[in-house]
Amino acid sequence: MNRTTSERHHEEALTHIVGGVNSPSRSYKAVGGGSPTVMARAKGAYFYDVDGNKYIDYLAAYGPIITGHAHPHITKALTTAAENGLLYGTPTEHEIKFAKMLKEAIPSMDKVRFTNSGTEAVMTTIRVARAYTGRTKMMKFAGCYHGHSDLVLVAAGSGPATLGTPDSAGVPKTIAEEVITVPFNDPAAFKEAMDLWGSEIAGILVEPIVGNFGMVEPNPGFLETVHTLAKEHGVLIIYDEVITAFRFHYGAASTLLGLKPDLTALGKIIGGGLPIGAYGGKKEVMDQVAPNGPAYQAGTMAGNPASIQTGIACLELLSQPGVYEELDRLGKRLEEGILESAKKHHVTITINRIKGALSIYFTGVNVENYDQAEASDGEMFAKFFRLMLDQGINLAPSKYEAWFVTTAHTDEDIDVTLQAVDRAFEQMNE
Ligand code: PMP
Repeated sequence: MNRTTSERHHEEALTHIVGGVNSPSRSYKAVGGGSPTVMARAKGAYFYDVDGNKYIDYLAAYGPIITGHAHPHITKALTTAAENGLLYGTPTEHEIKFAKMLKEAIPSMDKVRFTNSGTEAVMTTIRVARAYTGRTKMMKFAGCYHGHSDLVLVAAGSGPATLGTPDSAGVPKTIAEEVITVPFNDPAAFKEAMDLWGSEIAGILVEPIVGNFGMVEPNPGFLETVHTLAKEHGVLIIYDEVITAFRFHYGAASTLLGLKPDLTALGKIIGGGLPIGAYGGKKEVMDQVAPNGPAYQAGTMAGNPASIQTGIACLELLSQPGVYEELDRLGKRLEEGILESAKKHHVTITINRIKGALSIYFTGVNVENYDQAEASDGEMFAKFFRLMLDQGINLAPSKYEAWFVTTAHTDEDIDVTLQAVDRAFEQMNE
């Protein structure tokens, strides 16, 4: 596959944009380096790069594009929004409608507030939890990503008794020390950490179904334990549903799991492809936020008419009957086909799949936590990634990122993808 124009563009980008990319995960660093594919156009399930190559896309822009690229219903909403003025700095009817739609779908939210990104949404839930409880420490699970604000760029200390260390230059040690990190799906470690720190913790950040070390479901009873112990210690539960909301059904993972967090952070899908974030929760907690309460959060672009209207359009599409059943059916076809090829070519993999979201780990063990995901073979993944790219299948360039099936994918796309997987596994074993 000729990618010379991509390579030339990337060379140029390197002198003007740090790393040649506007988000580090877009670089191919995690898959052995080289020029990332520079895309020119996207439509439905397909990408077209600057060299004229076509790809079936499973990146879905790291999750938001669940209805496929340039869906006419969303494009129309954006055009209408643009014609009526892109930014007001005043309340709009649309944001009230959208807030009601989100509340209806996610009943644990009595009130919401819109932001511009998932990072902002999560960052603010932390402030709100601290304001509400008067405590400063936070807890999170190892390997989960909650955006790039200081407090959540923290690596785990070794064992529940230790405080975090900065995971990024520029994050003060004193901030990292406010964070306790525990392994996902480990109720004993969670209990130990809560026994030690529970009375000092304001909130615990939870990806209720993990999307950031591949897709990982909570083991039965794990989140129930988290809720029970958090309640006992007066710790607020914050579900980070930036990836999971509207991913598996018309609602959040919390509604799917039958659990009620105190706060929820949203993003990605709810913007239909435009920048967005939102957070919401119990009335008495949300009333901490200005102008009602003392916790400050604001945004010139927050609740902008374009993101709100593309978000509404996206949810309208997702509320149609059969949408999630179809994503599940296509996801299942992928899972079964990939497993069959792996068996045929003696490639050891584990697949975690929830409906249309799946991840392949090159490992022989079940993946229930970050350590297991980390131990999966990154070199095998890098080989696989490149063999798929060369056959016109665009995956995220990281062993930790999921594949996302969209409503634009067809059975034929799945067939083509599975043929590519089969050839990739065949070559990996040569
Ligand atoms: N939380 C989770 C669970 C995420 O996956 C992400 C982004 N991948 C974020 C927060 C941050 O969202 P954004 O990139 O919109 O700031």
